[in-house]
Amino acid sequence: MAYRWPAGTIFKRIDLDVQDRSCPVCGRDMYVCDHRYHHLWTLQGPTQVVNRLVRCPDASCESRGCTFSPEAASSISMPRWCLGWDVFCWLGHRRFARHWSVPQLRAE
Ligand SMILES: [Zn+2]
Repeated sequence: MAYRWPAGTIFKRIDLDVQDRSCPVCGRDMYVCDHRYHHLWTLQGPTQVVNRLVRCPDASCESRGCTFSPEAASSISMPRWCLGWDVFCWLGHRRFARHWSVPQLRAE
């Protein structure tokens, strides 16, 4: 079940682009075909990550049908997670290095 954000949540927006826009098969410039919106918690608060997805414009290219995502997306969080890596590391450190209890983590 997807996490339900409270109504009126204000998100900090992060836009991500594919670094190398040339097709890995034919070398043509790929175009933005869609956007993927990912909402998650980071230590800065609620965050919206906008991934600009690209694909090759050549209909005869072997990469046709493949969509490429920004590489930096996985540096912010795991796919479909609602926690960023910074929050995940914060929780892991408190839980396993400082031996905080789960209720103590939730309260914090
Ligand atoms: Zn191509």
